[in-house]
Amino acid sequence: MQETEFYQQILGLKQPWFVADVKLDPEAQQVDVYVEHPEGTSFCCPECGKACSVYDHTKSRRWRHLDTMHFRTVLHAQPPRVNCPEHGVRQATLPWAEKSSRFTIFFERFAIDVLLATQTVQGAQGILKTSWDETWHILKRAVARGQARKSAKPMPRIGIDEKAFRKGQNYITLIYDLDRSTVEAISDGNDTESGNACFSQLSQEQRDSVEAIAMDMSAAFVRSAKQNIPMAEHKIVHDRFHIMKLASEAVDKVRRGEHRQLKSQGDDRLTGTRYLWLSGQENLTDAQRERFDRVYKQELETGKAWAYKEMLRDLWHHEDAGSATLFFQDWYRRVIHTKLTPLKKVARTIKERLANVVSYCVHGITNAVAEGINSKIMSIKRRVGGYRNRENFKTAIYFYCGGLDLCPQ
Ligand SMILES: [Zn+2]
Repeated sequence: MQETEFYQQILGLKQPWFVADVKLDPEAQQVDVYVEHPEGTSFCCPECGKACSVYDHTKSRRWRHLDTMHFRTVLHAQPPRVNCPEHGVRQATLPWAEKSSRFTIFFERFAIDVLLATQTVQGAQGILKTSWDETWHILKRAVARGQARKSAKPMPRIGIDEKAFRKGQNYITLIYDLDRSTVEAISDGNDTESGNACFSQLSQEQRDSVEAIAMDMSAAFVRSAKQNIPMAEHKIVHDRFHIMKLASEAVDKVRRGEHRQLKSQGDDRLTGTRYLWLSGQENLTDAQRERFDRVYKQELETGKAWAYKEMLRDLWHHEDAGSATLFFQDWYRRVIHTKLTPLKKVARTIKERLANVVSYCVHGITNAVAEGINSKIMSIKRRVGGYRNRENFKTAIYFYCGGLDLCPQ
């Protein structure tokens, strides 16, 4: 069998295309495969599918294909252009590659599989022997393909959240579909406008289909939800993990203040106890647990703050919003009469937004799904070693967390 026929068969090339020549460059470890079609062949107009005669050819182009035994394999051809009576001069569709891709469909599919399996762009690059730009080109095309195919499904339970991009005050806003655990929209920043920009990426039907929205207590997201989702005030559920995090931070502030004060009097009872107050009791070793019990019995302000924080957990264990509200009012009265300033601040914040905290009893949603996605994003980002720019960061989020159908047909 001649190598041209061999390549014709393993490439799966169909009529009218055939392999005219194969060149092997052992030094460069490369196989170049030249593909042609017979003269007088007609091709279909990419717009209407009408068979048209060839108008001319563009200059020779190359597509990276799957390697042949470790040898980089490159397809070469001159794409024909047809002159459709209706659509004018157009490049005919090529069976081995999508329009404007530098890779064959086979290669793109393989690259997407590798990117998904390795979960890192750099890791995939090493296996695929592609450049940084080429790899991102594949990722971007895959995301664009997936988004074009995606139908706007109803989203009864969503979450809106912010995410730091690199370090510092550089944020993006994301909308999650909590039922499908996917990222559905991303915008720059974390203010009301950012929220609006995210909501505007959903269709009107999708926005109307929203029954519940999980979010932190930021006023910006509350505002944009109200501007974009009908009756949002009855649908917002402030994320309970976010609220508990605020309460934990308040306990830590109490501890820091008290520790400073005690130390100035030569009292180091709170030295090295930060972890004990911040981690769940179930995560403590026996020794840590003993230490905790000893400090807790001292009746320090920190211990009081911790106890109130623990008590607050029960807010989410009520059957209905009415009894949750009564529970909170009782908790609030106790906390507000203490000297635990940071915790009192949290209590006031919750009180202001109470209806949208106890709405958890009705909707039962949290951004916990989103937290799962967040940690996925963070781990991808860590392993990739940071993103060169924000657009790449967004592309990677959609690629790995968008629930998209990424592969070319
Ligand atoms: Zn046409």
